[in-house]
Amino acid sequence: MKTTKYIWMDGKFVQWKNAKIHVISHALHYGSAVFEGIRVYNTKKGPAIFRLKEHVKRFVHSMKAIGMDLPFTEKELFEACVETVKKNKIKDGYLRPLAYYGYGKMGLNPTGAPVNVLIAVWPWTNYLSEDPAIKIKISKYIRLHNKSIERTAKVSGYYANSLLASLEVRAQGFHEALFVDYNGNVAEGPGQNIFMVKKGKIYTPTKEHILAGLTRDSVMQFAKDKGVKITEKNLKPKDFYSADEVFLVGTATEVAPVKQMDKHKIAKGKIGPVTEEFHKLYLDVVTGKEPKYEKWLTYIK
Ligand code: PMP
Repeated sequence: MKTTKYIWMDGKFVQWKNAKIHVISHALHYGSAVFEGIRVYNTKKGPAIFRLKEHVKRFVHSMKAIGMDLPFTEKELFEACVETVKKNKIKDGYLRPLAYYGYGKMGLNPTGAPVNVLIAVWPWTNYLSEDPAIKIKISKYIRLHNKSIERTAKVSGYYANSLLASLEVRAQGFHEALFVDYNGNVAEGPGQNIFMVKKGKIYTPTKEHILAGLTRDSVMQFAKDKGVKITEKNLKPKDFYSADEVFLVGTATEVAPVKQMDKHKIAKGKIGPVTEEFHKLYLDVVTGKEPKYEKWLTYIK
């Protein structure tokens, strides 16, 4: 991977190569960490972080969800993210705040283990594929039930579920996996939400078993502002197989057109007009070309 110079660790900048933790850290053993994935985009006014406020809010929410006492305030974390981008002189990148139960106590109950926080940033490379449109496959694994986890939190341990599905479908030549929930309704990707277009209408799964992401929220907002309705509904795989368009959304994925789902071609293997419109608008918004949504950008001065 491409690296940068400094990582923010518990309030101080540490050289990338010296940013180390003890092997008996709680989080390494039990996945007892929470994280965020945030993008930095180059704009005409310099680098900008997209929806930083909302990401930091979710980060704090996730920390609280796994019982962490906050070692830093939301405001301090927000500022530390900005400083990390600035200090590393990143223009286009991926920002990764992570809070973890550290070294000093083992056992499944994390109470009493120290809470550590780091923020790293690195240059961005294409996430899913060089292809403009992707092939996805429904995984044999199902999405974690919302009574097994706190679904609104982004907890590292949950990602074992995502990792298994990613390995499974990539071995079969697909770019990305898709989960159904325990009822057989389409839920989400390992790190993305999903939308479909059918007969001129747009649909997305309900929030019940998904991490309803910020990119999903941005797309919903775009549609609302255009006066276009998006229906949140339980949808089965077969609803998607016969859809006119399907696209995945997420911070890393942005808006990714789907050209194949399982063995079914979507949008004749091309990129449909609705997907194209959201794709373009999203990229315009994150790069500061849409004044209406500039409120979502934190410029690095
Ligand atoms: N679902 C899951 C499971 C994810 O990990 C992500 C990525 N954070 C998303 C959806 C999309 O969320 P966002 O748009 O906030 O990146």
